[in-house]
Amino acid sequence: MARILILLLVANLAAAEKYLWPLPDSRTLTGGYADSRSDHFHGGVDLRARTPLPVIAPTDGWVERIAVNPGGYGLTLYFRLSDGMTAVFGHLSRYESALQEVVRDSQLVAGTYRIDFSYADETSAPHYGAGDVLCYTGATGRGPAHLHFEIRDGAVQLDPLKFYKPADTQQPVIVGVNWIRLSENIPGSSGQSLALNASPRISSDEPLALLIRTYDPGPWGRNAVPSALRVFVDSELIYEEFPAQIDLQGPQDIYEQLVYREFKHNDRDVRRLFHWTARELTDSMPLPAGWIDGFSGKVRIEVEDRNGNIATVSIPVTAGSTRRATGLRSSTAANSFSLTGDDVGLSWAEVSTIGNECRINDEDFAFPAKLVLTSETDFEPGLYWYKRSGAAGKSPLWRIPTDGYSVMSCYVLRGGTYGIAVDDTPPVLSLFAVGGKIKFKLTDDDSAIDDSSVRSEIDGETAIPEFEYEENGGSIWTARSLSRGKHTVDFEAMNRAGLYKSWSVSVTIP
Ligand SMILES: [Zn+2]
Repeated sequence: MARILILLLVANLAAAEKYLWPLPDSRTLTGGYADSRSDHFHGGVDLRARTPLPVIAPTDGWVERIAVNPGGYGLTLYFRLSDGMTAVFGHLSRYESALQEVVRDSQLVAGTYRIDFSYADETSAPHYGAGDVLCYTGATGRGPAHLHFEIRDGAVQLDPLKFYKPADTQQPVIVGVNWIRLSENIPGSSGQSLALNASPRISSDEPLALLIRTYDPGPWGRNAVPSALRVFVDSELIYEEFPAQIDLQGPQDIYEQLVYREFKHNDRDVRRLFHWTARELTDSMPLPAGWIDGFSGKVRIEVEDRNGNIATVSIPVTAGSTRRATGLRSSTAANSFSLTGDDVGLSWAEVSTIGNECRINDEDFAFPAKLVLTSETDFEPGLYWYKRSGAAGKSPLWRIPTDGYSVMSCYVLRGGTYGIAVDDTPPVLSLFAVGGKIKFKLTDDDSAIDDSSVRSEIDGETAIPEFEYEENGGSIWTARSLSRGKHTVDFEAMNRAGLYKSWSVSVTIP
């Protein structure tokens, strides 16, 4: 009997401390899992790390993949954990020294800063023990200095916090509850808010749904999602949502389930609004889960965190069953617009066109839909797709493919105005010597630099232009240190519209 008890205790301890926290010097979250960013949901957590801090292996494991990109995740490490999950660390400044050598060798062979390689199997991959230093935090890719940390199960991004259970007896916080009538279920509507501190009640002659703003404080601050959210009518469960996993390859339901609308007020204050979409509903269609139809009684909202702490709110509700035509604007409103002689179809729930730009739903809110742009004839080279930023600004999104039947698509989470522009200005390069090194700066007024094609040689030998955060440039790294005196730098770059330029410049190191 005693023996069984001890075994159980050991098993419990192991479950509780399964992974080591990867950043021993920081536990502060600056970004949460499933936060809505301008063009995607955030599939991990962000940890404060203003200066380079060591990142350690959460368990024994091996290096699965290394990717270096000037944008996005920057320097990234994919580390296979002992249970088969993968930890992803992004925006690193460098890898530990043996791995850093591997990366530099691969860059030299490829001739590019950008590399992305995976080890074929466990046998050939570098191994590390739990607690070994793998890499250091930095500010590569997008965003200020921080560590982006994910746990993936194959293509599913899980909330990393669910693998850590520090003592937490604090309940999740239900910040607010809104409700909407069926006829108000339109993109952008957040219905009416309830005064939770004043015995609220809801009465509607139509079916209704609830929108719930919540977060889990625990030791994490205001950036953690709770692990479950439930709605009961009387004691019957009518809706259940687990907001802690995003499947990169699966149906994008999560985009419809997790809505974040508080950006208008204060991104840092209130976290999320959970909501279920009705899409287009006709009288003959059953209401989707979560709608309360023909009911009079108590509705209970329950939010649970990863430690099992529960917060609840109970509200007396009367909901009618009379259907009203929903306000959801249908795809029949889809427009098409002409572009350089081609007919380009835009499939979208609601699109209005302004010249060669299209505005997606409200200016400040569109959620969630996939935008597809197709053309049966080739697009002309030099075109790029942009999102309008400010009155005159354009943020280039991507280059329009020029081969055969062209299709582009993206998820647009917050609406906005999109358009297509022609770029006929190639990038501009400046080279200068600083502290025994040659640095570069590339600017492109129209469509920004597409770094994938930036290449360089110094005195005829491969050199690697390394990007720094928020600079269109950085140092040019060479295998050997450069001597004083004159050097010939050959450089080539392509921008997002596919315009190439090459330079041959001599630079003197004083
Ligand atoms: Zn992140």
